[in-house]
Amino acid sequence: MADTLRNPVNLFDLDQAGMEGFFATLGEKPFRATQVLKWMHQQGVTDVAQMTNLSKELRARLTLAASFKLPEIAFEQASADGTRKWLVRLHDGNCIETVFIPEHDRGTLCISSQVGCVLNCAFCSTAQQGFNRNLTTSEIIGQLFLARRALGAAKDNRVVSNVVMMGMGEPLLNFDQVVPALNLMLDDNAYGLSKRRVTVSTAGVVPALDRLREVTDVALAVSLHATRDELRDELVPLNKKYPIAELLAACKRYIEGKAHRSITVEYVMLDGVNDQPQHARELARLLRDLPAKVNLIPFNPFPNSRYRRSSAEAIDRFQSQLIALGMITVVRRTRGDDIDAACGQLAGQVRDRTQRSARLLRNAAEVANAAS
Ligand code: SAH
Repeated sequence: MADTLRNPVNLFDLDQAGMEGFFATLGEKPFRATQVLKWMHQQGVTDVAQMTNLSKELRARLTLAASFKLPEIAFEQASADGTRKWLVRLHDGNCIETVFIPEHDRGTLCISSQVGCVLNCAFCSTAQQGFNRNLTTSEIIGQLFLARRALGAAKDNRVVSNVVMMGMGEPLLNFDQVVPALNLMLDDNAYGLSKRRVTVSTAGVVPALDRLREVTDVALAVSLHATRDELRDELVPLNKKYPIAELLAACKRYIEGKAHRSITVEYVMLDGVNDQPQHARELARLLRDLPAKVNLIPFNPFPNSRYRRSSAEAIDRFQSQLIALGMITVVRRTRGDDIDAACGQLAGQVRDRTQRSARLLRNAAEVANAAS
């Protein structure tokens, strides 16, 4: 208690188990965890005074021992197709991006797991900004909290029906922070999303994939992008550590024993690089004994990118070929590209924008000074 008094615990960092642990340190029963989780994540209440089913005395203690810190929305952009992108500012001034993609039967939120990324994939703009730091659980779940609030979730609770960890960063390199956030997404006392509608996308951190399997049961997407190690080493340098065969074996282990589950295999379509008929044949062969759906992602360009998007004909042909070979194959519709919200375009443009606003403020101050 003394410690929590000096150093209030941010309750947005805690899943159900963490919250029960926290209340145990206050000498409180586990059901308090459920009550507070519901207030925060279902009612959007972050003011202890409004948590009316807690005693006055407990509310007073919580005011001292707990905090409710979230990142904040710094900037919002809306695409002509309804996609929305938020620049989310973290307490240290770093920014990340979160994207909402509405479709007729679902609303998908694409969230970030790190500020920047270490993986340096050759076709991804996040790589260009390098790696800054891992997000905390509160910063990860905070993206869902803030998006729901911005979208008016109080009126329509299902507005965000799906979450994909396909924003900036590699979720499996931030395992300890990501897992409690996933737990909250699935928890009926928090967001209650179906485990099939929460997807972790990974470039293939094999040992973490095996650990993930032990602690959760969310859907899995892997960024394959190439059928041979030689090319994948180039596109996804992590492949040098965990080559294709090891990655696919880990995918198989991930869904072993689970009925009706399959892996999503992401494959970015790069003109003349990985989009030829021989690649489709090799892909079908590689995925022969893995229950998988192929998701073809037309490459999204960004400044200084060295690749081109495959032509519509090449993508069509590739898809038809895979379908003919028995693979379930869809082409990911590019959404929000007019606001740089499409896959691989999330760069945060963080520092620039913050520096720009700092510069504008300084200029305004100078003008004001000169005028007075
Ligand atoms: N690190 C994770 C999640 C982040 S990226 C991963 O690698 O899966 C989400 C998806 O977008 C990945 O499949 C990634 O390879 C893809 N992607 C990255 N840059 C892209 C681009 N410029 N165009 C299209 N897809 C891209």
